[in-house]
Amino acid sequence: MEYRADIGVFGGSGFYSLEDNVEEIELETPYGKPSDKISLVEIAGKKVAFLPRHGKKHQYPPHLIPYRANIWAMKMLGVKKIIGPTASGSLKPEIKPGDFVVCDQFVDRTWGRKDTFFEGPEVRHISAAKPYCEYLRKIAIESAKELGITVHENGTVVVIQGPRFSTTAESRWFSSMGWDVINMTQYPEVVLAKELGICYVNISLITDYDAGLEGRDDIKPVTEEEVYRVFRENNDKVKKLIYRMIEKIDVDYICEE
Ligand SMILES: [Zn+2]
Repeated sequence: MEYRADIGVFGGSGFYSLEDNVEEIELETPYGKPSDKISLVEIAGKKVAFLPRHGKKHQYPPHLIPYRANIWAMKMLGVKKIIGPTASGSLKPEIKPGDFVVCDQFVDRTWGRKDTFFEGPEVRHISAAKPYCEYLRKIAIESAKELGITVHENGTVVVIQGPRFSTTAESRWFSSMGWDVINMTQYPEVVLAKELGICYVNISLITDYDAGLEGRDDIKPVTEEEVYRVFRENNDKVKKLIYRMIEKIDVDYICEE
């Protein structure tokens, strides 16, 4: 496969295209087909590949997304840095719907997902102590500030299996652990990228307060409609942030880790 892109972008729920009328390619990987065709665009002189992780029609629920095929396809195109925005819930009152969180840690509560490329004969154990790229995180935070977006510079995302949302008890537990946001797709996307040596950054767009907040009867449990509504309202903000980040990213920058 010839080199076609430097930066990869995964669209989350409610985010299915980056630009209209662009070249699209269909790829086949050793792990099957990615979620959809991949669009290739040039932004600020940089080659960008875009893939909606749920598919354009949102046909893949979080637990059935072909994560390995998606990451492998990005690698096939030559991608070295990935921006992975997601719709996420907040587990803390101070993290409000419409805010962005640039996560630096995750807690995996998923099960049964294919979460490694190393199933033998080659076996590897990658470090996950710092799963997110610090270089890209810095760029995301800087860019958000420049655009006047409320951004939380650190955050632990607890990744649940879905497709259902949390019970009140689960949500209370996650909050009491000090975790910040909740989502269904960050795992294994981030670690698969790391296995292939691709830098990865998550931008969690907060759409809701999970199952509500303790002692706050005015904050209602999340519904699907609410997630999409808030995401639609903030879609432009997400795209602006991604464009600003792409302008700033030095595609040849080599990270320490
Ligand atoms: Zn990096």
